[in-house]
Amino acid sequence: MKLKYKLSKSTFIRGLQCEKSLYLYKHFYRLKDPVPAEQKAKFVQGNIIGLLAQQLFPGGVDASPNDYYKIAEAVETTKKLIYNNESIIYEATFCFNGILAAVDILVKDDDGWKAYEVKSSTKVTETYLKDAAIQYYTIINSGIELKDISVIHINNKYVRNNELEIQKLFSIESVHDQVLEYLTIIPNEINRLNYVIDSDKVPGIDIGPHCNNPYDCDFKGVCWKHIPDYSIFDISRLKTKKKFELYKKGILTLNQIDTDNNFLNKKQLLQVKSEIEGLSHINKKEIKNFTSGLNYPLYFLDFETIGPAVPIFENTKPYQQIVFQYSLHIKKQSNSKILHKEYLADPTQDPRTMFVEQLIKDCNTYGDILVYNIGFERGKLNDLIEYFPQFSYELRQIIGRLKDLMIPFQKRWYYTPQMKGSYSIKYVLPALVPDLSYDTLNIKDGGTASNTFLAMVNGTFEGDYGKTREQLLEYCALDSYAMVKILQKLYEI
Ligand code: SF4
Repeated sequence: MKLKYKLSKSTFIRGLQCEKSLYLYKHFYRLKDPVPAEQKAKFVQGNIIGLLAQQLFPGGVDASPNDYYKIAEAVETTKKLIYNNESIIYEATFCFNGILAAVDILVKDDDGWKAYEVKSSTKVTETYLKDAAIQYYTIINSGIELKDISVIHINNKYVRNNELEIQKLFSIESVHDQVLEYLTIIPNEINRLNYVIDSDKVPGIDIGPHCNNPYDCDFKGVCWKHIPDYSIFDISRLKTKKKFELYKKGILTLNQIDTDNNFLNKKQLLQVKSEIEGLSHINKKEIKNFTSGLNYPLYFLDFETIGPAVPIFENTKPYQQIVFQYSLHIKKQSNSKILHKEYLADPTQDPRTMFVEQLIKDCNTYGDILVYNIGFERGKLNDLIEYFPQFSYELRQIIGRLKDLMIPFQKRWYYTPQMKGSYSIKYVLPALVPDLSYDTLNIKDGGTASNTFLAMVNGTFEGDYGKTREQLLEYCALDSYAMVKILQKLYEI
């Protein structure tokens, strides 16, 4: 049977965010931006969590078709399963008033039917309520009397000990009452969105804060193409509202901004003026204070982490950042050769044990340890103290020796127009040391490094294992070597 539906749960949510996004999705799908690797990794994680949550209600029957494009078949399967008195159905799918909605888990107990939607996040958001409302609407109008509807989400208080405890990993939160509040607006919203889809022209909606709220829209390649690569949207820490205030006045580039009013703060003003005048700002006195306070031997340290939603290792929480790799460059004296030490964990074991032992050995007992963004490395070292109290003395010593190389750039003691308002090492490095670049690397950022190693841990990694480990080492090594070169530049000043 060919089912007619115009909206699915996800296109309904898309339409609530932006009518133009819905229209483009329906009529110009090919214009959609490519899915970023990070998003793909989230999908994989979402699937893993969805399957785990099914274990809360074991023994169910899956109504989803083998082929995603035949999703409408799931409606017939669901009907049959309900008719056959199945009491636990995964991916139960319903269609009403042109809306197709699948619910992750549908359960019939002594009270009656209850629906459960699984989310990878750690709390219920406004969008999840709307999402649940459209499900509730579709299910009850398909003739199922729902007694309750809940969101199953990750419990971020859970700490794993030995075996994974599914009941503790998840929290089940009824959203029935909030959903009822939304229910009254659903039919009107469906009519509005159907009208959008049936229209013969693209809705005339301009870009705005809605492009990133609640989700990053995947049609920015279409709508944002008139925004220059470097624009008012790159002004550091300028509120979204203020950015669009400028945009509405037709201001797109930094040189169009009036720098005489009090619209920007001091740092933002520096960014804009530096761009307009093409000049760098260098506070030699502060830089000298910073560099003369450093004590040799100098260590340049960088960590990489994974943050699995489902805790894999003992004594870890959902989404906890766990160290799996470091790179350490060492300079004993200002004119001595640079030494390099590194660690990359075996993905089949808890990465922290060897990490901590080797790190303590490699860091020795004296000399400053430079990191870029101290909060991150310090936080991870404190986590390690909690897990390895036997090493707390050594790890505390390391924490006490940390110094933050980000400070001169964060405080704008050194700012060049090439930094484009950012003090991230990914901007600072090419501005100061143009011949050293991440561009030539296969793994260019921490997110990719993290997703790659996590895939190795989860057993979902596809590719050349040996080569990829080399690439991970290369990436992390550049992060710490970049600090060596950046500091050298500061000394030169
Ligand atoms: S980029 Fe913005 S304006 Fe364009 S479709 Fe997406 S949300 Fe709508």
